[in-house]
Amino acid sequence: MGASTAFHLARKGLDVILVERRHLASGATGHSGAIVRQHYETRIGIRLARESLRFFQRFEAETGHPCDFRQTGFLSGARPRDARAFDALLALLHSEGVRVERLSPREAMDEEPQLVSSNLAAVVHDPDAGYADPIATAVGFGDAARDHGATILENSTVKGFATRRGRVTGVRLRSARTIASDRVVLAGGNWTPRLARTVGIRLPIRFVRGEVAILRRPSGFGAPPKIHFDFYGNTYSRPEGDKDTLVGYMDTPVRRTSTEPELRDDSVPTSTVHDLRRRLAARFPAMARAQSRGGWAGLYDVTPDAYPILDAVGPEGLYVAVGFSGHGFKLAPAVGRLLAEFVSAGQRPEALAPLRASRFREHALIQPEAPFPARRGSRLP
Ligand SMILES: Cc1cc2nc3c(=O)[nH]c(=O)nc-3n(C[C@H](O)[C@H](O)[C@H](O)COP(=O)(O)OP(=O)(O)OC[C@H]3O[C@@H](n4cnc5c(N)ncnc54)[C@H](O)[C@@H]3O)c2cc1C
Repeated sequence: MGASTAFHLARKGLDVILVERRHLASGATGHSGAIVRQHYETRIGIRLARESLRFFQRFEAETGHPCDFRQTGFLSGARPRDARAFDALLALLHSEGVRVERLSPREAMDEEPQLVSSNLAAVVHDPDAGYADPIATAVGFGDAARDHGATILENSTVKGFATRRGRVTGVRLRSARTIASDRVVLAGGNWTPRLARTVGIRLPIRFVRGEVAILRRPSGFGAPPKIHFDFYGNTYSRPEGDKDTLVGYMDTPVRRTSTEPELRDDSVPTSTVHDLRRRLAARFPAMARAQSRGGWAGLYDVTPDAYPILDAVGPEGLYVAVGFSGHGFKLAPAVGRLLAEFVSAGQRPEALAPLRASRFREHALIQPEAPFPARRGSRLP
């Protein structure tokens, strides 16, 4: 988010400094599944995702740097009890101009020969979805920001903010240096709530552990599979390069909440890798023979409605971008553009109004317009 925003601001001709405590993509972004789908249950989610997908498709032309976006297509099945909710979701996607098609289970197997679809009522196919390399994306945005004149300070930790008469006047670094600026975007991922507290802002964020495993597909599997969401097995999967598959849990148990913004150990236990393989094999039986290649864990910054907070908060001139709730990677191009518009014009773009910070106390949480499955809001990768 920081690198995308820096790029969009620098491209507008603003003088930008991006401060990063370690190196770009060392936070959640570097741990991301980096799936880029348009399958959202709200208009705001669909619009941010659709704009961002178009940007990923032409990332190199826009930035001059690669992000390794691979268009794989996306398939997700509906259980018979979710069939009506599924049709409502498809209608919402179509009304927003998203090119998704409804497949019968038989047609889905033609698209994906290794897929077991017999217990599905219908399957959605989004041929435009794909995934990118999350590290290349963040570094690409950073390099492009630099090409437009921005400065990137890595290995530099922000300690707090300088303020005067209710206005932000700069960013204080741990090194005792203060960078003077009358506009500051706080996009520190899981560390944002702590930094926001230094200027008296409380953000309703909790941290939830997400885990993924990497499995080597057995020989004879055939062409790499598409991105797949399985609501029976609660898994999402996508190809990882030409030989491997990345698989993770879609809905993450809330008991996996952490009070710390950083994991002490980002490895995943072997039992988790085996559990993910077993779940994936229920949908792709050949994967029962997949070799384990380990995995990793990361933390999601989750808000009460699973949508981010993109707003001006606290002292004048301070903006936050936080709470991406496990699905922010794909939204970064649109979020960066909208934040850059907000910061440079000083007026909130209309599109960001639903993501204002005050919505939680106003009881105006984002509600799924076509909830799918019917009982649950969106907190998917
Ligand atoms: C396992 C996992 C799988 C995911 N899969 C997907 C997916 O498939 N698709 C999708 O769209 N999203 C996915 N996500 C979510 C997505 O990765 C995040 O929403 C997104 O990367 C958040 O980006 P960010 O810039 O807000 O945060 P971060 O990437 O965490 O960036 C914040 C940066 O701020 C820096 N920072 C923190 N404190 C300071 C400080 N004091 N001073 C200076 N710098 C500081 C950090 O080092 C970090 O680099 C996944 C997340 C995880 C963990």
